[in-house]
Amino acid sequence: MKRIMMKTPLVEMDGDEMTRILWQMIKDELLLPFVDLKTEYYDLGLPEREKTKDQVTFDSAYATQKYGVAVKCATITPNKQRVEEYNLSEMWKSPNGTIRAILDGTVFRAPILIDSIRPAVRNWKKPITIARHAYGDIYKATEYRVPTEGKAEIIFTDKDGKETFHETVYDFECAGVLQGSYNKDSSIRSFAHSCFQYALNTKQDLWFSTKDTISKQYDQTFKLIFQEIYENEYKAAFEAAGITYFYTLIDDAVARVIRSDGGFIWACKNYDGDVMSDMVSTAFGSLAMMTSVLVSPDGKYEYEAAHGTVTRHYYRYLKGEETSTNPIATIYAWSGALRKRGELDGLDELVNFADQLEGACIDTLNSGVMTKDLVGLVSAETKTSAVNSREFILAIRKNLEARLLAE
Ligand code: NAP
Ligand code: MG
Repeated sequence: MKRIMMKTPLVEMDGDEMTRILWQMIKDELLLPFVDLKTEYYDLGLPEREKTKDQVTFDSAYATQKYGVAVKCATITPNKQRVEEYNLSEMWKSPNGTIRAILDGTVFRAPILIDSIRPAVRNWKKPITIARHAYGDIYKATEYRVPTEGKAEIIFTDKDGKETFHETVYDFECAGVLQGSYNKDSSIRSFAHSCFQYALNTKQDLWFSTKDTISKQYDQTFKLIFQEIYENEYKAAFEAAGITYFYTLIDDAVARVIRSDGGFIWACKNYDGDVMSDMVSTAFGSLAMMTSVLVSPDGKYEYEAAHGTVTRHYYRYLKGEETSTNPIATIYAWSGALRKRGELDGLDELVNFADQLEGACIDTLNSGVMTKDLVGLVSAETKTSAVNSREFILAIRKNLEARLLAE
């Protein structure tokens, strides 16, 4: 078979533990035999982050700005225990956080569906993609445990030192709690652009929800910024693509989402997105079948799996055991990135390869061959055989070769 040539390199971000092992298997069995893979390689594995004082993470994000498309393996976010385990000189920040901050991006999470795993919500037929505004609100709030009676106030002082706002939040007659949260127009605008871009890119309707009836300044601002950007910059393109932008209250959105058959993007404020993404992913089945893509407001894409480095499996792997870790979301990170690269470079062959690779994954799962995590989730009438990761990837390779030969 002739290998597909690439034009522009993909930014490749390698990672840690079990997903690092899968990463190499995926490249060896499912990519390198078929594609003349051109990547700019960044090792975001924890030892290399330590060695470079985390510079490698920054460099990989800058490379993504330069080339426009990246694919990332799951990485360890160090905590105290990891500092000891890896003998770190510092508790390096989450690479995802660093990359997201540099690209100013929004994360879109979507499940991969197969026939034999039915979502907990029976009428869901197509994926529901959650877009979470991962900036500000309670995650950057200032909080105070009010110990006793006293007055809580909000004061705003402008850059010239003039007090332009001064209001009592509550005159406490007893102990209580207090929270001051904020967001920025610039961040909300970036969020809106990423959402509109991604909706156009994937040809899906975009829903956005807040609680603007109650939060008449805070949430209302989100609503108005989205509306203004939509009207001025995306309305025509949405109409041409046959998709819609739809705003509704968060409670109404929840009800409609449950009654829907899926197939849209649901943009959420930070907290709503945090909660709803866990609910939606659980209802669709498994974290191991959840994809994730970071989209910047100027249209740069970084693809990854939503799950972590699957540490528990890695410790078993280190003892010499074969593990049955699910590589699907990581394979889809690669296919997503290759498809995007193909689209940007006008390489139909590469786009087609990405489609066939995903098709081969689905063929394999539909034939009942799957990793252990999925066996418990499939409907009772499906005959399954649980295989280890290597066997699973080889089964996908067989189906991929059959598809490519049939063309
Ligand atoms: P995790 O790696 O997602 O794994 C949690 C559990 O979920 C696993 O122990 C496994 O359950 C199951 N699981 C997840 N992915 C699976 C897969 N592909 N196939 C089969 N089972 C899968 O989360 P974690 O254990 O909380 O975190 C481990 C490390 O990952 C941490 O160091 C964390 O910082 C990092 N992390 C990175 C990212 C990222 O880079 N985007 C995201 C989250 C976490 P069983 O053990 O029951 O089989
Ligand atoms: Mg959460």
